[in-house]
Amino acid sequence: MDFNDTPQEAEFRKEVRAWLSANAPKEIDIDALRYKDDLAPFKNWQKKKAEAGWAAVTWPKGLGGRGGTPIQQVIWNQEEGMNAYLSMPFIIGMGMAGATIMTHGTKEQTMRYVPPMSRGDEIWCQLFSEPSAGSDLAGVRTKAVKDGDDWVVNGQKIWTSFAHVADFGILVARTDPSVPKHRGLTYFILDMKTPGIEIRPIKMVSGESDFNEVFFTDVRIPDSNRLGDVGQGWKVAMTTLMNERLSVGASFPSTFDEILELSMQLPGEDGKLIDNAAVREHMADWFIKSNGLKYTGYRMISALSQGRMPGPEASITKLVMGRGRQDIASYALDMQDMAGILTDKEQASLDAVFQRSFFRSIGNRLEGGTDEILLNIIGERVLGLPPDIRVDKDMPFSEVPSGKVGG
Ligand SMILES: Cc1cc2nc3c(=O)[nH]c(=O)nc-3n(C[C@H](O)[C@H](O)[C@H](O)COP(=O)(O)OP(=O)(O)OC[C@H]3O[C@@H](n4cnc5c(N)ncnc54)[C@H](O)[C@@H]3O)c2cc1C
Repeated sequence: MDFNDTPQEAEFRKEVRAWLSANAPKEIDIDALRYKDDLAPFKNWQKKKAEAGWAAVTWPKGLGGRGGTPIQQVIWNQEEGMNAYLSMPFIIGMGMAGATIMTHGTKEQTMRYVPPMSRGDEIWCQLFSEPSAGSDLAGVRTKAVKDGDDWVVNGQKIWTSFAHVADFGILVARTDPSVPKHRGLTYFILDMKTPGIEIRPIKMVSGESDFNEVFFTDVRIPDSNRLGDVGQGWKVAMTTLMNERLSVGASFPSTFDEILELSMQLPGEDGKLIDNAAVREHMADWFIKSNGLKYTGYRMISALSQGRMPGPEASITKLVMGRGRQDIASYALDMQDMAGILTDKEQASLDAVFQRSFFRSIGNRLEGGTDEILLNIIGERVLGLPPDIRVDKDMPFSEVPSGKVGG
């Protein structure tokens, strides 16, 4: 494969650069944005992108896109750089919910939800994980019971990013406990302002509260907000999860360039840290891994450009990226010696990029599939190893032990 731009791609890249240089903010202060609850800078940028057809390059015109190719989307992502931070609150809508609605929704649902999502007018959250159903998503216990034209939802979700600012959520609930777990699920679009929803923030190790617990008490969802058929929730959720893995894997940079820069800045015993053989060995290792990620990324691009959905490549990228970011951040803090504990960006090296990444990378290894689940996928689907043991796969869900005392 030739990694250089074709003349058409080079022309497209020029167009992207020209638009960004005319429209993007000149500087982005992530800390100033993060610690305020003001969503205006995020919403303004998203709207600007959608109006010019950059919100999702491959989506149709009128839905925030420009009917572009997957390669053009990749070029946009490469050029958008730090500006992508301004699209963070929209990641669940743009990275997961939008594609799922366009694939499984009706025309009415697509036209109602996708344009305001890509303009940034409405923020989305993903109501999948529960206290006893994370990796085993098909084990969700939040139930939805049909009542006239509505469904009545009771139960609890957890780790719901952006629920505290979300207008809508994508929800997987159990609608039939009498059949095996994968077959009794249904997928809904939930208006987060519906009575009966309680959102409690969870404080993270970094001190931030980006995610929440969400409780449902007799929450009513009209049947018109069901996405896909009753009992087909697993199939619909698979579209979401595939898109989630792609967007998590792609949205976090490897941070190799930064640690290399740090090693060239900081003093060592004999010159700079980079002059030390042990440091150089680490740098060589991460250089190889970050290039491996880059070329695996190109394999995904090849798959996309041939109209195929990347499969195991997305799992490999996410696995190596999550571990790599955590290793790099941890080593970078050691390299800073006592100063490694400073989290204030005015005082820490490179605006505290590694202090932030040290805390955030823990989550990278869990969200969108934990390391062990990704290893299972690679073992089973790439290497053809025997599958994981799934004893409850064919059992009616109501007979699966819940682990609760007394039933
Ligand atoms: C930053 C962040 C944001 C998130 N945002 C959202 C969100 O917006 N919406 C949402 O729904 N969820 C969200 N999640 C939840 C995330 O999807 C789950 O944390 C993840 O799927 C793992 O589930 P769990 O936490 O229940 O762990 P569990 O599934 O209970 O796993 C516990 C441990 O057991 C291991 N394990 C489990 N099953 C197996 C197996 N079969 N083989 C080997 N090992 C296994 C796991 O790897 C893990 O180490 C978020 C998580 C994080 C960290």
